[in-house]
Amino acid sequence: SSGCPTQPHVAFVAFPFGTHAAPLFALARAVASAAPGTAVTFLSTARSLASLPRAEGLGNIRLVPVADGRPEGAAEVPPPGGIEELIGMFLAATPGNLREALGAAAAGAGGIPVGCVVSDAFMWMAGDVAEAAGAPWVVLWTGGPAGLAAHLHTDLLRDAIGVGERAMTRFKEQLHSIPVLSAHRVCDLPEGIVFGPLDAPVSCLVHRMAQSLPKAAAVLHNTFEGLDPAIDAHFSATFSRSLPVGPLHLLAPLAHPTPDPNHCLPWLDRHAPATVAYVSFGSFMAPPPAEMTELAEGLEASGAAFLLSLRDEVMGLLPPGFSERTKGRGLVVSWAPQLDILRHAAVGAIVMHCGWNSVVEAITAGVPMVCRPFFGDQRLNARFIFQVWEIGVEFEGGVMTKEGVVRALEAVLKGEEGKRMRVKAGELKAMATRAVQPGGSSSVNFNSFLDLV
Ligand code: UDP
Repeated sequence: SSGCPTQPHVAFVAFPFGTHAAPLFALARAVASAAPGTAVTFLSTARSLASLPRAEGLGNIRLVPVADGRPEGAAEVPPPGGIEELIGMFLAATPGNLREALGAAAAGAGGIPVGCVVSDAFMWMAGDVAEAAGAPWVVLWTGGPAGLAAHLHTDLLRDAIGVGERAMTRFKEQLHSIPVLSAHRVCDLPEGIVFGPLDAPVSCLVHRMAQSLPKAAAVLHNTFEGLDPAIDAHFSATFSRSLPVGPLHLLAPLAHPTPDPNHCLPWLDRHAPATVAYVSFGSFMAPPPAEMTELAEGLEASGAAFLLSLRDEVMGLLPPGFSERTKGRGLVVSWAPQLDILRHAAVGAIVMHCGWNSVVEAITAGVPMVCRPFFGDQRLNARFIFQVWEIGVEFEGGVMTKEGVVRALEAVLKGEEGKRMRVKAGELKAMATRAVQPGGSSSVNFNSFLDLV
């Protein structure tokens, strides 16, 4: 009644595209359950909020919409420029939309002002908004650690390698100038650093992000200590605090089972251990048409059982009669409860785009990976998988061919190579599990983060 609120209020600010919001939401759930006296607000666009797992049972988490920057009455269908255009419109609306949403957050929490802002690392402007409000700023990097290391070295890489055409001529060179990336090559870098659209909204965003992160009170990562000790040390030296707190889906497991409308799990129950290949390219990526055909032909020719999760837009690219011909050993769905699938004993491999959430999920399930990276940090992640951790294979030439798919599935599901990978993946799974147990590194780091907020 004194008008001086004592309850802490933490606001989480998501980057509302791809699978960025989900790990931040897991972090918010972890805070809400560890600190029930804290007001927790989660800010994202209405569309992104709707894609999050069901909110019941989340207690003190409030969801607050952030304006997406699209014109009033814009059609539901994506604009001609696709996701890049949506991202551009959203970014153009910052930081005004964030300031507004933080005001709404305080009002929704009975007038308790936001005392700490935890944002997706991409949302560097949330740092300015937090500073203006006198609140500390903490970030979560939701991608792979190598991707962050690359962005931090953007200026150095541009000087050392050159950009555009010049960089293209040096595609196969190892990145010796950056010790933590010395296992990687120029062509593995995310677009927008030395090649690709350097001036695209997302390229400018991550460049600005890299310059802003050192001023964050802490940088959290959806990974665990020891997965890459050199990068851990590099981040500790670069940031005020560097806190690996993952795997976040283990730190904050969902209270409700994930729906399985396509009956994937009962279908997997009918298969022998480690015999099924699960195929998924994440929430918005799809292989180009010619490669979809090669993948389908490879799955058909391999004779292996497979569960293929494909977005509706690309279902039509499967060859005519594919589903009938592979009936019984193949199941094609438009969405699958991936985490539960990876944990199912029948799954012996994942064919994937190497999006970081999927990589972390596969590691914690001990499932070997067949890598077909497309963009962003995916090529860097893939190289860790097959070269550093030795828990997966790549496709020759980097693209899927019928023969390549047959060979990869043979090696991972049936060969000695696959057995070795499963053993190594099992070791990483054990490390991840230990990290989130009481006294484990991620749980200790999470407690340090709680102290900060
Ligand atoms: N996912 C899922 N079912 C599917 C396909 C994807 O549950 O059929 C989930 C997957 O478990 C992961 C996320 O979607 O958590 C994809 O995230 P990732 O970082 O791998 O890729 P992105 O969607 O950002 O490209």
